[in-house]
Amino acid sequence: QAKKLGRNRVEFFTWQLQEDLRSKRRLAEELKLGLERGEILPYYQVQLDARTREVIGFEALARWKHPEKGVLAPGIFLKIADEHGLAAEIDAAILKSVLKDRLFWLLRGLAVPRIAVNISASRLADPALLDKLRKLDIPPGVIVFELVETIFLDDSDEKLLAHIGDIKQMGIDIEIDDFGSGHASLIGLVKLRPKRLKIDRQLVTEVVSSAEQRRVVGSIVEIAKALDVEVIAEGIETEAHAVVLAQLGCDGLQGYAFGYPAPAAETERLFSSSTSRIEKQKTAIGN
Ligand code: C2E
Ligand code: MG
Ligand code: MG
Ligand code: MG
Repeated sequence: QAKKLGRNRVEFFTWQLQEDLRSKRRLAEELKLGLERGEILPYYQVQLDARTREVIGFEALARWKHPEKGVLAPGIFLKIADEHGLAAEIDAAILKSVLKDRLFWLLRGLAVPRIAVNISASRLADPALLDKLRKLDIPPGVIVFELVETIFLDDSDEKLLAHIGDIKQMGIDIEIDDFGSGHASLIGLVKLRPKRLKIDRQLVTEVVSSAEQRRVVGSIVEIAKALDVEVIAEGIETEAHAVVLAQLGCDGLQGYAFGYPAPAAETERLFSSSTSRIEKQKTAIGN
């Protein structure tokens, strides 16, 4: 009896596994189609100067405008994309859309600040990346690449370093994303010499209540300053957060307190870089 039960269980798990694999594969196929149909689009989240509260830039965050399921966040599709070799294609689609949005805004006389796009390990590793970027004719200083520090785990990768150097030469600044959440943070920082780093959300959540966390963030800022690297704090959800992080020396702030990631059409309202507008939006959100 027990044996039979055991076998049933194994059969159940096998069935479950196959079902999971099947639905994953289905999602990957849908994603591929979605990429072809232009369903992968950037949403934009504003970044402010910590001192003046002026708009200094935006981060483009991938969204999948799914025909039936609505707007999906990367948490739903990025892992699958990665597993099926589609991450680099998503990055490319986002960059293209960002450049298109930017051109549209410029043609209408709007002052567009720098825009940061996230770049996956697989896209960064693509030896043809530089050629692909050159074809896009990106003017210097308008695009920033955010890469997670885990990309830099292998500190012996001189080729990757040179590759990143070439990207910098094109006028695309490099930022280390989610700083403090991965590995080899300091090695990455010293070797990579990014323009700025973004302190991971998890490191700032308790910054108001915890003196220890304030000391940790303060130390990160000090290290960054020693290396001439700017600091953005992400995941700012309250005004108290913003005030403390500015006091600790962060240069930039990003988070729900100042705006949720929003589609291009809603983003251009922020280009006036007037603080009053941001204040208004904040009130509307309820912070
Ligand atoms: P990330 O690059 O660290 O982006 C910040 C994430 O935190 C975004 O989630 C953003 O919506 C969210 N966020 C912003 N402010 C707050 C806040 O105040 N509180 C909280 N709790 N969250 C906040 P999102 O859009 O879901 O993106 C998740 C991750 O997916 C990103 O983390 C990034 O690693 C990745 N990602 C997004 N777009 C792309 C892309 O185009 N290419 C690649 N390779 N990765 C992307
Ligand atoms: Mg990012
Ligand atoms: Mg981040
Ligand atoms: Mg993150």
